[in-house]
Amino acid sequence: MNQLFWETPEKLRALLCELVSWNSITLTEGETKFAPKVIDKLKELTYFQEHPSHLQMHDAGLGRHAVTALYKHPEATETVVLISHFDTVQTEEYGVLEPLAYFPEELTKKLMENPTDLPESARIDLETGKYLFGRGTMDMKMGLALHMQLIERASMEEWPINLILTTVPDEEVNSAGMRAAVTQLVRIREEFGLTYKLFLNSEPCFSQSPTDIDEYIYSGTIGKIMPAALFYGKETHVGEPMKGMTANYIASYLTQRMEWNTLFRETDLGESTPLPVSLQQKDLKMSYSTQTPYRAVALYNVFLLKRTANEVMDLFDQVATEAMDELNKNYQVICEREQVKGVGQVKVLRYEELLAYANKKLGVEEVERLKLESLQQEDWDDREKSLRIVDDLMIQCQELAPATVILFAPPYYPAVNTSNHPLVIEAVDLMKQSAQTFNNTVKQIHYFNGICDLSYVNYEDEGNGWTAFESNTPVWGDTYSIPFEDMSQLKGPVLNVGPFGKDAHQKTERLHVDSAFVELPVMLETLIKSLY
Ligand SMILES: [Zn+2]
Repeated sequence: MNQLFWETPEKLRALLCELVSWNSITLTEGETKFAPKVIDKLKELTYFQEHPSHLQMHDAGLGRHAVTALYKHPEATETVVLISHFDTVQTEEYGVLEPLAYFPEELTKKLMENPTDLPESARIDLETGKYLFGRGTMDMKMGLALHMQLIERASMEEWPINLILTTVPDEEVNSAGMRAAVTQLVRIREEFGLTYKLFLNSEPCFSQSPTDIDEYIYSGTIGKIMPAALFYGKETHVGEPMKGMTANYIASYLTQRMEWNTLFRETDLGESTPLPVSLQQKDLKMSYSTQTPYRAVALYNVFLLKRTANEVMDLFDQVATEAMDELNKNYQVICEREQVKGVGQVKVLRYEELLAYANKKLGVEEVERLKLESLQQEDWDDREKSLRIVDDLMIQCQELAPATVILFAPPYYPAVNTSNHPLVIEAVDLMKQSAQTFNNTVKQIHYFNGICDLSYVNYEDEGNGWTAFESNTPVWGDTYSIPFEDMSQLKGPVLNVGPFGKDAHQKTERLHVDSAFVELPVMLETLIKSLY
């Protein structure tokens, strides 16, 4: 009998620490180096030495790669896709301990020397000895380690089911890794004649309150979309305020109406989305002057359960129109009071309308040239590029001002839920029973509230609910796209079953040792074995 590399809790813990030591903060060199390292690690398994073509790297842009590792049983067609991400958030918040952030054993020991430096709840956990601290331990290299353990067991014991370990970069920023992997998963399915039975992610489960130690499994994931706006007023000198209209004044009306607006609250299966807030609002003046700011932008966060991009755009349009109606009414009163004519009514237009207008006025070629100027700015992210494209077009079409141009900025994570799928109902029951053998309680949540890559599988909508996203996202097809067609081909139930941890994205990020190394290996094996 061959020896298994990642079988025992100790070996699994060592594997996790090795994965964590390969630091892979999103958009750093470490992120680009991670995929080849994980390929090398998987090559240690006899199965991949015998089937090297089942280990593949897929371009995810900027030097980064997604990895797929297929364990294929000769007779099985049914396949479970195991999804994880290997990028992590930054480590600055560790301060003097930053060099240890990637070395969980050392970090946890070091923290023991001065436990009172930690917030109380983290100190209490530390002193129990039941937690391993470190960046990426919880979110989510443990998930990847568990999937590696599963694929090792499956291949050594020849489980009669196929597994595709899929681990991707960029989850914490734009999900470029998963968006690239989706197309590959469709291709691999065709190539090997597979059917996808389950998409299983292993993001950590988050405690719902500081004292909560229940574990959760998720049968769906919340969605997120970002409506944005460019406000174009009219410039003037501070000494003649009535001759212009500041963009800040216009922006304030929309932001007032967007923040905490219950129109955007969705409820399904007893769970509700958090209300929208603004993520950014700024004028585009580069430096102080006595010219008034006449261009500004705002970015809003909207969570989703059921709605499509089209529906959100309609609502956003409605809110923007109401906001500008109110502004126009108030402005009229001010103009009458000051006995001036004013600069005109503020209109609302969608990016697609502005684009059509600009194409007609300037010609498609000139519009493409203008867009390219922004698209080529390497130090701008997709949000900045989106807003700058709109700004450049409005500068060329000032006769439309004053105006509020509405658009979408990346990223967009569609919501997914498969709570009613028979396989999911059975799996949730099974996981509850399995946890009971460890005297643990597992509860089901219908929508994972942490945003995850499951958003990009099992895409469903009645018609073409994404078209408003496509036509109102200025960088669409250039620096950002979503493979909706491929996503809708990846039909299948989704589940997230992961280890318990706390404080993801904080310096007190920590993983529960028993959950990670003892309980989850049993639970995941039980789950996979129930599927054949
Ligand atoms: Zn994560």
